[in-house]
Amino acid sequence: MRVSTSGIKSESIRNNQCEIAIAPKAVRGTIFFLTEDPGTTIDPVKSYQYYDDGILVLNDDGHILDVGYATEMHSKYQLAAHTVLNYSGKFIFPGFIDTHTHYPQSEIIAAFGEQLTHWLDKYIYPTEAHFADKSYASSASRFFLNELLDNGTTTALVFGTVHKTSVNALFEEAEKLNMRIIGGKIMMDRNAPHYLLDTPETTYIESQALIETWHNKGRIQYAVTPRFAITSSPEQLAVAAKLFHAYNGVYLQTHISENLSEVMHAKQLFPASKNYLSIYDDFGLVGPRAIFAHGVHLTDEEFSLLAKKKATISFCPTSNLFLGSGLFDFRKAQQENCHLGLGTDIGAGTSFSMFQTLNEAYKIVQLHKAYTDTPQNEITLTPFKAFYLATLGAARALYLGDKLGSLQPGKEGDFIVLDLEAIPLLKFRLQKTQSLADRLFALMMLADDRTVEAFYLMGKRWQKVDRPRF
Ligand SMILES: [Zn+2]
Repeated sequence: MRVSTSGIKSESIRNNQCEIAIAPKAVRGTIFFLTEDPGTTIDPVKSYQYYDDGILVLNDDGHILDVGYATEMHSKYQLAAHTVLNYSGKFIFPGFIDTHTHYPQSEIIAAFGEQLTHWLDKYIYPTEAHFADKSYASSASRFFLNELLDNGTTTALVFGTVHKTSVNALFEEAEKLNMRIIGGKIMMDRNAPHYLLDTPETTYIESQALIETWHNKGRIQYAVTPRFAITSSPEQLAVAAKLFHAYNGVYLQTHISENLSEVMHAKQLFPASKNYLSIYDDFGLVGPRAIFAHGVHLTDEEFSLLAKKKATISFCPTSNLFLGSGLFDFRKAQQENCHLGLGTDIGAGTSFSMFQTLNEAYKIVQLHKAYTDTPQNEITLTPFKAFYLATLGAARALYLGDKLGSLQPGKEGDFIVLDLEAIPLLKFRLQKTQSLADRLFALMMLADDRTVEAFYLMGKRWQKVDRPRF
C-alpha cells in the first residue's frame, strides 16, 4: 500500500491563538498507550502497547490508520521520509481527557482560604457574573482552551456559567480548533445570588437552544448542567431530566458529595430522598453519560448505585485538597468497578496539568490508606492505572472509547508529544529508572506543561503563537 503525500498541508488559519503548522502523514517516536484497564497490578503486561521506536500513521481525515514499530510501518506503507515527522527520543501519548472543569473560573484559580460554600460566595459567583458579556466570555474561552492544550489535554467536560452566551463563546472557540469539547450552561434557580439565577422555564428554553445549535456539530457535544442539587429546585431538576432524555447522546454533568456541609444541606432540601445520589436518581438523572464530580463523601450504597447505573465519577484531587473537602475513596470505586475519570476542577483545582492531577491523586490514595487502616499492599494508584484514567479510562467513562483515549486504528488523531528532557529534575530522575512503570511514575510525579512539546487535534499539529492574556 502506498500512502499519498496529500496529507502534507501548510495552512494559515488564524484565530488569534494558534496556527495550523502541518498535518503530517505519520509521526515517529516512542509510542505508548493503554488498550485495556490495567487494574491495580504494578506491571500489567497485556493492557498497553509500547513501541520504543514507533510510527503512528494518519489518514487524510485525521483518524489513525495504523501504529507499530517504525521498520514495520515503513515497509508496510512505503512512507516517504518527508511525510514522517520525526520525534525520535520523545514520547507520543494519547491526548489527556479532563472529565470535570469550569472554564469561567480560570481567572480566580488559587483564591485563598475558604471551603466550598464560602469559596463560591466570595470568589466564584462574582466572577461568573462577567460571563453575560460575549467578548469577555470569548476571551476567557481562548485562554482556557490554550491552557488545556499547553498541558496536553485535548478533550474536556466543561461547565459554562448560567449565561447562554458563555457556552456559545466556548463552543465557537473550540470549533475553530476542531477540539472535542463537551459543555453546558449552568442551571441554577435558588440558593445563589439573584444576578446568577435562571428559572425552570428559561433554563429549558436556553439549554434546548444550545443543544439544537451545538450538539454533535463537528466535535462539540452538549451536557445538561445543573450546578448541584442545592442550587436547583425540584422543578428545575425535572427540566434537566427532560432535556437529558430527549436528545440522543447528550450528557449530564453536576457535582455530588464534595463537602460535608453541602451533603447535609442537600439532604435538608430533599428530605424524601434516601441519600444525596438518590436526589438525582429520583429525577432520572443517574445513568450512562451522567458525570458526577467529586463523590468524596459517598456511602457504600451510593457507590453501588453509581456502578449499577453505569454513571461516572470524576475524581478531582487537587480541588479536594485545595478546598479541604476530603479524601476520595479510590479503593471503594475500584471494588465497585465504578466508571471513573479525573478532573482538574479549575478553579478549585490548582493545576491544568493532568500530570499534576495524577500526582495529587496518588497522594490521596496513599493518605486514604493510612487513615483507613488499609493493608499497605492493597489497592493503590499504579502508574499504568493513572495514565489509563487520564486517557482510555476517561474516554470509556464518557462513552467515547471508540473515538478517543488510545492510538489504535480508527480512533481520532488526538495526541501529544512529550519532551522528557524539558525539565532538568525529570531528566535527572529518568536516568535512574529501571522499567516503563518507573518512567511513567516519574512522569506523573514530576512532569507538567513544560514537558508537552506539541499537541495534535484530528491529526493536525497546532502551534502556539501569541496567546491572549487578561
Ligand atoms: Zn466543579
